[in-house]
Amino acid sequence: MSVSERTYIMVKPDGVQRGLVGNILGRFEQRGFKLIALKLVHATPEHLEQHYIDLKGKSFFPGLIKYMASGPVVAMVWEGLDAVKTGRSMLGATNPLASAPGTIRGDFALAVGRNICHGSDSVDNAEKEIKLWFPEGVVQYTNDNSKWIF
Ligand code: ADP
Ligand code: MG
Repeated sequence: MSVSERTYIMVKPDGVQRGLVGNILGRFEQRGFKLIALKLVHATPEHLEQHYIDLKGKSFFPGLIKYMASGPVVAMVWEGLDAVKTGRSMLGATNPLASAPGTIRGDFALAVGRNICHGSDSVDNAEKEIKLWFPEGVVQYTNDNSKWIF
């Protein structure tokens, strides 16, 4: 656990199509996390297979790749205290039927195959996922506000 812990959060294609990007982003902002990378990307099946490499062999894997490649996703990196664990608790359980109300999945989803968001499940996986989705790196904030506060 550290204040500079980072997690990879992604709004899946159904979340984007349903117009839930702002709501999901807002929850992470309101909670106090710092946005350090963000982009809208239509990922290739090959890229998604890499992202979900640990699930290769599961019966739902082909369907999962098809779902994730069906439209653009919003890829984000959030930084802050215990970001990985807290991010997961904000998402809710993998199967929305088991997700508590108040969580993202518990508020917006019903089916495990359409659960609208992703969050890294460990600090190690967060690091891997951030490298995979943001090979160009993330931003560095400066404390110099003079450029936009007059
Ligand atoms: P999580 O996204 O909560 O980390 P997993 O890593 O176990 O969950 O699975 C990755 C994604 O695969 C899930 O978010 C969900 O979209 C999909 N998935 C998991 N289990 C199933 C299932 N039984 N049927 C269909 N899709 C599933
Ligand atoms: Mg997972």
